[in-house]
Amino acid sequence: MDYVFPAPPQASIGVVGEAARFPVRRIFCVGRNYAEHAREMGNDPDRDPPFFFTKPCDAALETPCTVPYPPLTDNLHFEIELVVAIGRGGTDIDPDRVMDYVWGASVGVDLTRRDLQAEAKKMGRPWDWAKAFDASAPIAPIVPIDAVPSLSEGRIWLAVNGEVRQDADIGDMIWSVREHIATLSQSVRLSQGDLVMTGTPAGVGAVMPGDVITGGVDGIAELEVTIGPR
Ligand code: MN
Repeated sequence: MDYVFPAPPQASIGVVGEAARFPVRRIFCVGRNYAEHAREMGNDPDRDPPFFFTKPCDAALETPCTVPYPPLTDNLHFEIELVVAIGRGGTDIDPDRVMDYVWGASVGVDLTRRDLQAEAKKMGRPWDWAKAFDASAPIAPIVPIDAVPSLSEGRIWLAVNGEVRQDADIGDMIWSVREHIATLSQSVRLSQGDLVMTGTPAGVGAVMPGDVITGGVDGIAELEVTIGPR
């Protein structure tokens, strides 16, 4: 294939125990998937069906890493999330067969310009500028599914400078991995290389330049992200 200039490099995340890397195709994110977080954001957790937004594939940055404090915000928030890596394409996937499509799992941070998100909500505008900025998806190396104990239970946590800020269990999801990936596959054809960030529990908050985020899903993966200067 000839291109008018060199094709961009393939975005990828490393794989635990393998030299080969996981090529990232798209990043889908689930909104409002833990009841306590829905409540802290002023929403009714019982009524809202799962909904999705996206980040560009090259927003994925393998941890440990430093993320520059992004422009246009004074309220950069952390959201710790279980990440599911898709290894097989499909559409209208039966919830009972979702695990056949999962290649692995990890943990990531859905970095959010909360002030831009609040303005977007108020104005009825898209969330892209709040969610889809450069380096907005730091993600730990992906663990192949055979080495993942469970996608339905396990502690998920995040600390800033060693102080725990989010502490919940992935079993607290409103829409389980089986349910929300099945729902997602009704809207788009899922493909090899897609990542799904599965929503965050309560306790989100702001970070500043110089802060160090640590976090993880017990039994799966841990991460460390340093917030760089503006
Ligand atoms: Mn999120």
